[in-house]
Amino acid sequence: MTKITKTNSLDIVQKHLTAECFNKLFIGGQFVDPVDGQKMPTYYPATGEVFHELPKGNANDIEAATRAAEAAWLDGAWANMPASARGDLISRMAQGIEENIQVLAAIEAADVGKPFRQAEMVLGGASNEGKYWGSLGAVLDAEQDIPINSGGGVGGLPPAEWDVVYRRDPIGIVGLISAWNYPLNVAFRKVAPALVAGNCAILKPSEIAGLSCMFLGKLAQDVGIPEGVFSVVTGDRETGAALVASPSVSMVSFTGSSLTGSKIMEASAPKLSQVALELGGKSAMVVFEDTDIERAVEATIKGCLTNGGQICTAHTRLIVQEGIKDDLLKKLKNVLEKIPYCMDPITERERGDRAWETGMTDVIQPVVSASQQEKVLSFLNEAEAAGIEIYTGGGVPDPTAVENSGGYFIQPTILNNVPRDSDAWQKEIFGPVLSVRSFSSEAEAITEANSTAFGLASTVMSSDPAKAMRVANRIRAGAVFATSTGEALLAEHPAVSRGGFGCSGVGRELGIGGLHEYTELKSVNYSGFSIAEAKENSNHG
Ligand code: NAD
Repeated sequence: MTKITKTNSLDIVQKHLTAECFNKLFIGGQFVDPVDGQKMPTYYPATGEVFHELPKGNANDIEAATRAAEAAWLDGAWANMPASARGDLISRMAQGIEENIQVLAAIEAADVGKPFRQAEMVLGGASNEGKYWGSLGAVLDAEQDIPINSGGGVGGLPPAEWDVVYRRDPIGIVGLISAWNYPLNVAFRKVAPALVAGNCAILKPSEIAGLSCMFLGKLAQDVGIPEGVFSVVTGDRETGAALVASPSVSMVSFTGSSLTGSKIMEASAPKLSQVALELGGKSAMVVFEDTDIERAVEATIKGCLTNGGQICTAHTRLIVQEGIKDDLLKKLKNVLEKIPYCMDPITERERGDRAWETGMTDVIQPVVSASQQEKVLSFLNEAEAAGIEIYTGGGVPDPTAVENSGGYFIQPTILNNVPRDSDAWQKEIFGPVLSVRSFSSEAEAITEANSTAFGLASTVMSSDPAKAMRVANRIRAGAVFATSTGEALLAEHPAVSRGGFGCSGVGRELGIGGLHEYTELKSVNYSGFSIAEAKENSNHG
């Protein structure tokens, strides 16, 4: 068993972690120990210390959760409840996040290594988003039994003597598998719409940083989500694989790497169960020379350093017009070399990234784990060996610059003139590393932006609105930002659907489309009697 050591700030977090929900699985409405009694450690990225051991569920626990979900699904009370009533329960869970935001932010700061201030701000977003999902319950109710229209195409409507209507049914038992970078946000973005839509859901959070997700079990219990409708089973990738393979699971909604996404798709194929995949990215920041240079510096730094570069939409490819390249790189280097490291994310209440505000990321957080640090360093070593210019950074900081902390720090790094076919250009590094290429014409900018297999997000910066629009419309990505200021960069709104082109994903999250992902569209064809007669009789039945 790994030895647990403590710092003062970790002591505070550990006091919160004595609650049952952080030490047991949540299955069938109860907090239970894993069948095989296993545990797994989680580490404070700023020091490398173990600070908690959480239950490690396995296939046996997934089996228990699916049995509980099957019973709830067969009972039918949840799926048959008005969606607005389910939505009210989700809104109350969202309220619970808001009421516990200080505790949850401290836990995420310790688990992920992100500054407390940043965690608090983002968790506020999860709560707001949850309320949005709750409100969509009434929207879903209003979508039931909607007469089919022609949709504007040639061919007309079904015969007038039939009543043909659409309904949106829940899918059944859905498996929700989430990533560690924004733990509770990513998980609740699945749990909330899945439950509003009337499904039974089993959540498997990331083993790297999933503590805040465990709190969702407590919130579900507190607001009275019926037993078995929602379970939380913490565990590793094998636990996730057991969930995907379960014959009871009719859909998997996954957020994580493209590699795992493709494994999940493959494992779902034999049973033809559905997948919704929110995967990795290698987003482009295209900067034209008519952009205000200071704005370009700010936006580029925001784009590549938010959450330490560990965000799926991180803008890690800078594509800059030749005329301003040298100037922009000099300014970026100057700023990056002065940003301090975040030595204690749990107590960092002033600094953090500014992704959703004005200003730049002003502190460098550690990456989440020793293995993530190794992964980033191996990309940097490989780039160096291939002769790619390391314009600044390039490795771990001098130990004295990070107080010999043992934390998983990486220097913010710029790789210059990166070949298009190199891993530094093509692969998601998920750390504070920016790869740079230049362009001369608009057409070249578009080619560069579209030169990877990913397509999650991208930004075009220019003071010329028509040019920005032309380029934005040609970029193959699920979310494109066209801007002269960088203001909306990385912004998300609960009502705006997002997702990936190409290797960045399958399906869309957020918005009404994000709710529909958790439903099956069904037509009901009434003939011989009308839907009004059917309804009348069912009211009396
Ligand atoms: P990961 O793919 O390693 O793991 C994600 C989850 O999948 C974890 O819970 C893990 O236990 C589970 N898992 C791993 N192998 C599995 C398998 N074979 N079957 C079932 N489950 C399995 O990803 P990560 O390192 O946790 O997260 C980082 C990745 O997530 C990055 O690629 C990032 O871009 C992506 N991400 C995408 C979005 C988005 O919205 N597109 C948002 C956040 C993160």
